Amino acid sequence: MRIFSGIQPTGRKHLGNYIGAIRQYVEGQDRGAPAIYCIVDLHAISVQYDPRALPGLTYDTAAMLLASGLDPARCILFRQSDVREHTELCWLLASVTAHGDLNRMHQFKEKSATQRELLSAALFLYPVLMAADVLAYKAHEVPVGDDQRQHVELMRDIAARFNAAYGEVLVMPEHRIPAAGARIMDLQDPTSKMSTTSSEERGLVFVDDDEKTILKKVKSAVTDSGAEVRRGPDKAGVSNLIDVLAVTRGVGPEEIEREFEGRGYGDFKAAVGAEVAEYLRPVRERYGELRGDEAELERVLRDGADRARAIASETLAEVRAAMGIGAPS
Ligand code: ATP
Ligand code: MG
Repeated sequence: MRIFSGIQPTGRKHLGNYIGAIRQYVEGQDRGAPAIYCIVDLHAISVQYDPRALPGLTYDTAAMLLASGLDPARCILFRQSDVREHTELCWLLASVTAHGDLNRMHQFKEKSATQRELLSAALFLYPVLMAADVLAYKAHEVPVGDDQRQHVELMRDIAARFNAAYGEVLVMPEHRIPAAGARIMDLQDPTSKMSTTSSEERGLVFVDDDEKTILKKVKSAVTDSGAEVRRGPDKAGVSNLIDVLAVTRGVGPEEIEREFEGRGYGDFKAAVGAEVAEYLRPVRERYGELRGDEAELERVLRDGADRARAIASETLAEVRAAMGIGAPS
């Protein structure tokens, strides 16, 4: 069972990333043979970014993943751009990707609406590069949050179309979306997912936020004008906080509703803030220890890239041969 997933080097990752994705990466290490995790710097350039900041943001994300429990002895952790096979495969797969499919991707629609200066073709091709990331490793399982469901479905279509045209080379991957916490919402706008690029700072809990900051952000989370701590379609903010508390405690949401019956939002938010701060404490502390040693982070990423390349280059040789690209073998 091969596991693959990617995460953007947007620096400090947030509670949604941690609950929806990173938690699963850690768990996958002992099931994956191997489990492969990639910091996708090439995806990060699909929107406006600062080239001087990108290398440091990649280290931030690497340190955060290691602090969360990724262990280079039990998984492959690397930087996407170090393995050139991803970009080559992206182009080859673009030839079996329907333009119309890319056009209906939710992420493209959402992110393109917020681009001011340039709506890049890279943002449009993002799902093809993501398909290349996964298919290059013939991964069976892709741990992601709910927002990536559509992209995983598309990569299955791409793999199927490739195999139908050129022979059975690629593996059809399956998504692994957690049963609880697959879509943590923005604290200030609980109808949108918590997002690195589109949320305001106040709407996000960063994994390394200190306790005081977390308490304050949760306290000022947008709720509704009611007073009952229960889930409901008209109670997006409270429902989100209930889910967060349920995940961090490892219980069902009904249990949280029962516990807070008859108690107000103030009490409830204080409990959520304290619990989240405690939940993230070990990661926050470990992150502080790891982030300073960039030479060590670089060593981990390079070593990971060597191991990743060994796998991806084999797939690329098969793909090229199947497609008739390059000198005949
Ligand atoms: P952006 O919004 O700019 O795409 P992001 O916050 O989604 O950034 P990514 O690095 O793109 O961060 O996502 C990494 C992983 O985290 C993906 O598997 C994604 O599905 C998951 N994820 C992202 N946001 C959430 C969320 N709010 N709740 C649960 N999982 C999430
Ligand atoms: Mg994302």
